[in-house]
Amino acid sequence: MSLTMPSFFLSYRVRLVVYSSLLILFLITITVYSYHYVHKLIRTEVDEHIRRIADISHTRIKDMHLALQGYTEIVRDDLRLQEYMFVVTAIGSEKQPLQELFQRHFAWIPTDRKMIIADNGTLLVGKQDKVFLQKITHLLRADAPQTVYIEADDGLELVSMAPISYRDSSLGKVIVTRRLGKQWLETQHKDTGVMSFYEKDGRIVASCSSSLLNTKMDITTTKLISSTDSYHTYQLVLPNTTTDMPRLWFALKDTDINARLNQHQRTILVLVITGIAAISLFGLLLIRNFTKPLTQLMNMTREIAAGKLPQQEITYAHGEIAALANQFADMVKALAEQQREIEQVHAALEKSAITDMLTGLYNRRYLQVIFPKLIAQAKRDNSHLAAILIDIDHFKRINDTHGHVAGDLCLAHFSDELKKHSRANDYLFRIGGEEFLILAIADEISGMQNYAEKLRQSIESTPASHNQQLIHFTISCGVSFDTPLSLEGDTLTHILSRADRALYKAKEKGRNQVQIDEDSVALLRTLPGTISSH
Ligand code: GH3
Ligand code: MG
Ligand code: MG
Repeated sequence: MSLTMPSFFLSYRVRLVVYSSLLILFLITITVYSYHYVHKLIRTEVDEHIRRIADISHTRIKDMHLALQGYTEIVRDDLRLQEYMFVVTAIGSEKQPLQELFQRHFAWIPTDRKMIIADNGTLLVGKQDKVFLQKITHLLRADAPQTVYIEADDGLELVSMAPISYRDSSLGKVIVTRRLGKQWLETQHKDTGVMSFYEKDGRIVASCSSSLLNTKMDITTTKLISSTDSYHTYQLVLPNTTTDMPRLWFALKDTDINARLNQHQRTILVLVITGIAAISLFGLLLIRNFTKPLTQLMNMTREIAAGKLPQQEITYAHGEIAALANQFADMVKALAEQQREIEQVHAALEKSAITDMLTGLYNRRYLQVIFPKLIAQAKRDNSHLAAILIDIDHFKRINDTHGHVAGDLCLAHFSDELKKHSRANDYLFRIGGEEFLILAIADEISGMQNYAEKLRQSIESTPASHNQQLIHFTISCGVSFDTPLSLEGDTLTHILSRADRALYKAKEKGRNQVQIDEDSVALLRTLPGTISSH
């Protein structure tokens, strides 16, 4: 099966492959777009998430800020504390009762440091910490309540101060602090799941995870890359912090973000592969279900176009095309059966057209058809053509004596005898009422003469039987020959007229005998290699 270029592209298989490919391309495009979109969405969501967590932390710090401020004010406004402090600072009494009072009344305050410092710098309540005191010297000089950030060992410390006075004279300061150090970072991490750390001069100084400690950080790109991981970061700028203080950052591991992306990527990949597999499978099934019946149909139509009616086996139909192929095969089968019947009728008609009904021998019409073929065969074989013309003697008398039906019976009886004595290559004709002809390819006059003689004797000795009555009759035969090499013009008339002449002679000489045409004998004698009559 060869397909020309346009029909190749119009083939449903090619079209199916093109449509499926387009569908797969569309699927891949949607997937790539969706992947990028989701990628962007997850990144944005991560940014949002960190910012939200930073905001929450900021709110907590602000709350802490207010709370600290409140604590200092509670202490500042306590009258007994003021009196005790006055006694200690103005009179110079022991600070022990003041410390006990403070402990009794303000132990509940949840802070990291609680201090009372006299205006002359003496520490009245709290632990001595020179470094810390140095960091808050500006606070000790201030005369209004304040809350500030100072740098601590592991981050920042929120320090709140309120001046204490008694009867309008300033006595000292109350100071409370809360550390926003490693512990605080760990609590934040536990609550929110987001990491946080302090960075100073591009190096991590405190973190909720010890693995990040001392890691370098590129401040310009805000990207943090540790030995094991990279991080997505966000800085929370605390108000009133100075640039030399540690900066607070929040971070999410890229591996966590990527894990979510990878999960999404895997899901999409599975969907795409399933989609492509489904489309391909669908296409293959279509091609498989279509190809066999279509090829079957095409083969059948091609054979029909070539003039044949092919027999196709009916197969189990999977779909409409297969069903169509089966119906087509059924139709072709029915047509083939009809054609067979027609051929049979045609053959019967052809046979009856060339056959004599009464005797079953060939009729005169077939003589016209077969004669040229016999001439050609004789020429091919370099042989001669022999004719034996037979006429039943006094047949009229048989009819008259026994009736027409008996006459017919004699004709049938004669033809049976004729068939019995004839050879495979002889052509037997009934050319008239009771006239018969044998045509054969022959080399010898004697052979044909013997043939006619045997037939004559057989008829003479074998009567026909009608109504338990035997009807004896005889025949007269005229034998003639012709050689196709010497023949010209109407050969059939020529050979028949010679045979007829010999037959006439047989009748004349008293019937029931065989006569050879003289001219035929003379003709054969003149030819080299022919055989004489006796
Ligand atoms: P001869 O020996 O000279 O041939 O005598 P004949 O009587 O046979 O010759 P003739 O030609 O005078 O008669 C032939 C007869 O054959 C005439 C006809 O009635 C009869 N005949 C021809 N065809 C048929 C046929 O089909 N059936 C029957 N029963 N008779 C036929
Ligand atoms: Mg006759
Ligand atoms: Mg006769």
